[in-house]
Amino acid sequence: MNTQTGIALLGSAVVWLLLERRKDSRRLSARVLRPGVRIDLTFVVLGYLLLTLPTLYYVRVATEGFNAAFGSRLQSVALPLSIRVLVAVVLLDLGGYFVHRLLHRVGPLWEFHKVHHSSPMLDWLATFRSHLVEQVFRRAFTPLLLFALGMSMDAIVLGSAVIVGWAMFGHANIGWSLRPLEWVLITPRLHHLHHVPATSQKNFAVVFSCWDRWMGTLATQTAPADCVLGVPDEVTTYPTRFFDLLREPFSRLVSRNERSP
Ligand SMILES: [Zn+2]
Ligand SMILES: [Zn+2]
Repeated sequence: MNTQTGIALLGSAVVWLLLERRKDSRRLSARVLRPGVRIDLTFVVLGYLLLTLPTLYYVRVATEGFNAAFGSRLQSVALPLSIRVLVAVVLLDLGGYFVHRLLHRVGPLWEFHKVHHSSPMLDWLATFRSHLVEQVFRRAFTPLLLFALGMSMDAIVLGSAVIVGWAMFGHANIGWSLRPLEWVLITPRLHHLHHVPATSQKNFAVVFSCWDRWMGTLATQTAPADCVLGVPDEVTTYPTRFFDLLREPFSRLVSRNERSP
């Protein structure tokens, strides 16, 4: 990620934060320093930022490796950067859709993804509450389709930044009615439904609602703004402290292995 991309992401976080402070745009009244804010900030630093350089290194090695093995297929078509970024956003969102479904469907992965679902309320910062293991898994597998097509590294990096910016919007504490947009895009209302335990198996995409619509996983009903969010069946019992959140998936996997014959 270059400096301009980092500044753009920071700028979008400030926009979402300011909108969350406005009575006419927020979903729920909440303090900036709401419960769990320190945990989510720690995840920003010890998860998202810590993994930035290794991720860039991985994307560089993977794009060069695939291109060396199969030729630079998409790069040989002289597409402008804006089109390549748009293609990257579409394909990263498609890859992310399937990775997110795997995080819900595969038992050990779900144990790690529960950390993201443990947020008691959503705002832009809650985007970053996710276990390091989940982040590594997402970053490793989400761009595979782009590597295979020979997409350039700059388009993958910029496309990823657009996805993160939209993910922050999807989690933002914003109560706007954007139903016409939901034909195409995931809105805060739709991602909010993903964090409601009863509809946590719906709305897996980050940017485009078409993936969920085509796969039969789109939920569009209305949930009360103040409905309870959290890990299904563990809303009140899931750990709430940072180190407990990091440790919990490992302890559950160990105890699961000990129980199995
Ligand atoms: Zn999920
Ligand atoms: Zn989420």
